[in-house]
Parts: sequence; C-alpha cells; structure tokens
Amino acid sequence: MLEVQSLAKHFGGIRAVDGCSFMVPKGSITALIGPNGAGKTTAFNCISRTTQPTSGQVLLDGKRIDQLRPHKITRMGLSRTFQISRNLADMTVLENVICQARIGGWRDLFKPALGAEEVDKAMEILDFLGITRIAFEDGSNLSYGQKKLMDLAALLMSDPKIILLDEPAGGVNPTLLEEIVGHIRKLNDQGMTVLIVEHNMDLVMRLSHKIVVMAQGRVIADGKPEEIRENPAVLDAYLGGV
Ligand code: ATP
Repeated sequence: MLEVQSLAKHFGGIRAVDGCSFMVPKGSITALIGPNGAGKTTAFNCISRTTQPTSGQVLLDGKRIDQLRPHKITRMGLSRTFQISRNLADMTVLENVICQARIGGWRDLFKPALGAEEVDKAMEILDFLGITRIAFEDGSNLSYGQKKLMDLAALLMSDPKIILLDEPAGGVNPTLLEEIVGHIRKLNDQGMTVLIVEHNMDLVMRLSHKIVVMAQGRVIADGKPEEIRENPAVLDAYLGGV
C-alpha cells in the first residue's frame, strides 16, 4: 500500500534520512523504530510531505505522492498525527477536531464556522473513540493522552485509508495507553493500515505485524516482531545509542 523507495533528506551535511526503502503492507500495523536521532520523524515528515525529501520516491497504492502538497496527500487517503499535539488555542475538542482536519487547502478558508455535517461526523468519531464527554472542553485543558485521542479524532475526519501515528504512547498514562492501543487495533480490524513511530517497545511488540528499524538514517532491519527482537544489528544499534 505504502512504498518508500530510496528516500533521503539532508539538512546541510546532516543525512537525517539516508536512502531508506521499506513497505507498509495494506491492512497491517507497521512500526518504524530506532534510537533517538535515527531519522524516523524526518521519514514521517517526508512521507506526509510536511518536509520536502532531498531524493527518493513515496508511492501510495502505486501512485507517487512525494511531489504532492500535504492536503492532496490527505485527500488520497494518508493522514498523520504529530509528536506534539496540534491543539488550537481557545478551541473546544469538537472545534479542534473539525478545524485541525480542515487545515490545508485554500478552499477551507471559505467554509462556514462549523457546518452541521462536520459536527455530526466529528461527534460520531468522538463517540467511536469514547470521548464525547470531553467534546466541549477546552482542548488545552486535556491530559497528554486525551490530546492524543483528540488528534486521532481529527485524523479520522478525512476518512483515511492509512494513518501515520507519531509516538501515540508518548507521555500517556497506562490506562489511557490501553485505550489508545484498543482504538488502534479496532481501526486496524476495520481495515485501516497503520504506520507508527514509537519508543515504547512493549507496545510496538504487542501491536505490530511488521517492524522497520532505522539507525543513522538507514533501514537496518525489517521483519516480524519476533525476528526483530533477536536481530543482533538491532540490539547493537540500541545499545550503541544508549
Ligand atoms: P527521536 O526518536 O529522538 O524523535 P528520530 O529518529 O525521529 O529521533 P529525527 O528527528 O528524524 O530522528 O532526526 C534525525 C536527525 O536529523 C537528527 O540528527 C536530527 O538532529 C536531524 N534533524 C532533524 N530535523 C532537522 C532540521 N530541521 N535541521 C537540521 N537537522 C535536523
């Protein structure tokens, strides 16, 4: 479904992503892991085109998306979250979900404040995620985990086929973490393809069908969780990074 081919992103002399190739199979939960500074977020940014890659190709269902603008990629069915919540100031959760989802594309500027259809859809998604109770709370008063759920709700507004989640477990308390894991599984059971960047190895091992390991901008391993767990190059990369 998603194919990353020889992707590179250089910042001056820094090769943040240095010729990465991997695939995210349709219907899978795939994790992109690696020590700090491995290039995972930069790869995510290149795939969602929040950063322009230096070279390489990204294909979604066989079509190149690396030349497209981010909102076009979203319309083609790929949406992402960010490590830090994009909570918009002075907005309720409901408003956030609707307005975050609108960002990108000049046509959005001409939409009414809150359209009835958007509100219905957002409330359905909040219900699906079990967070209707916080729909009218100020987004900035939420816990870290609730913000992650709010961002996930915003992501689902575009009816994506594939979602990219940047550290869905980062800073989240254990109870909410299990909720988030449950939602990711539920979405995947319904056919959603998922790519996650995550440092919580227990979660990665439990959740993923496939793991891609990056170190120093390159893919050093790619396989099933049980293969990755035993892979000496992966153990070396992590121990070397500590
Ligand atoms: P972490 O797990 O800590 O989030 P990561 O694997 O996501 O790390 P990146 O954030 O992609 O790694 O960073 C990869 C490398 O690129 C790092 O050396 C980082 O300092 C560098 N880098 C990332 N963004 C920029 C930038 N805008 N300008 C210069 N260097 C950058």
